[in-house]
Amino acid sequence: MFEKKDYDKEILNINKRSKKHTCLYSDCLGKTIYSHAISKSISIEKISENGHVKKFSPIRHGDEKIPKISDVGINEATAFNGFCHLHDGFFNDIDEREINNLRDLFLQIYRSISCVYYYEQIGDVLYPDIDIDEAVKIIVNNQITKDEIDLTQDKLYKVKGFLSDEMARANNIKNSELNKRKEEINRVRNYFLNNIHELDECKYTNRKLNEKGTELQTIKFNDFDYALFYYITDFQVPVAINTMHNLNYDGRNFLFFYIVIPYEASNIIIGVMENNLPPEYYDKIITLIDDAFKNRLSVLNFIETLVISSPDETYFKPCIINNMRKEKLDFILNDFMFLHEFLSFDKYFLEYDVSIFDELRTSIISEGINVFNESELDKIHTLPMRESIDVRKNKMMSKIMRENITIKSLKNDL
Ligand SMILES: [Zn+2]
Repeated sequence: MFEKKDYDKEILNINKRSKKHTCLYSDCLGKTIYSHAISKSISIEKISENGHVKKFSPIRHGDEKIPKISDVGINEATAFNGFCHLHDGFFNDIDEREINNLRDLFLQIYRSISCVYYYEQIGDVLYPDIDIDEAVKIIVNNQITKDEIDLTQDKLYKVKGFLSDEMARANNIKNSELNKRKEEINRVRNYFLNNIHELDECKYTNRKLNEKGTELQTIKFNDFDYALFYYITDFQVPVAINTMHNLNYDGRNFLFFYIVIPYEASNIIIGVMENNLPPEYYDKIITLIDDAFKNRLSVLNFIETLVISSPDETYFKPCIINNMRKEKLDFILNDFMFLHEFLSFDKYFLEYDVSIFDELRTSIISEGINVFNESELDKIHTLPMRESIDVRKNKMMSKIMRENITIKSLKNDL
């Protein structure tokens, strides 16, 4: 059951262009072409320079991860092995013109969540066949394990067998969580596919979306436990995002899907989330989203907050990165490395305290339509205080270790 695997090779097979995958459209057995979650011609190209955009892609150096931002060709940005040629054609409407009606919106959500669903396969590679011997060795030799539990070499030797059983058990739990999550993502994406079919069968009317720069629109469904919101800006924030946030509350996972699509002179921002959020956070999150679309500056702040909580799924126009002074870029890249500091129910959507799109921020503030807090301008030039990288790393590791099921049970049983 727990065989050794060539993880790197298998993950590469998921990430790179490959014809080995089967189409994700219901019941289709066609082989996939490599196609985009966010349209290349109508969107990604609009934020590209010389055929490229920029993306956070940390590199591994031994056990260390080093922050880095790289060029990504527009043929690769948001591309995945998701649909066959025939079913990629299903998205023609949103490849040829900007999203402007309900059907387009559902098409985009179906396509974007299918992309997230596709990348969930990486979990299948990492967890099911974990190499237990190797994992036990890592846990036992880890300094943080030794700090958390009083383990002598003697004791360690005795618990090794127990530890292996624990690892296998923890691994099975992880597996079933993963499968549950995949089923849930699949359920959500297929709900939207079904809605597209119903629209096509004229079961209800395909209406136009709100005008650019007008108001936030929320859509709820009678027969579905998720709601969606969208907003169309009347200015361009030069960034594309296609992401899922998975927040844990009391042992249960809550999924949030966000899509930010840049067009020539606007963006559409889409969110899909459960209706039944944990009661203590419900009002906070709903208020945050309502307030995010009050004016241009608040929209920009919301997008920057989305960037910091989705660093791995964000594509930048190159000049945003190229024009950033080195000190600030390093600061932001370091924040990208500590995702857990920004992504939990307690911290969710706390406004990011650094400005990413400086030029745009300056220009919005100079319009002077709204009264802004001084700090909105200060964010451009001043970097906030953070703990040292070492302290942040240690906190992250001990959080991982505290949540580690194996360590928990070792503590209880020794
Ligand atoms: Zn197909």
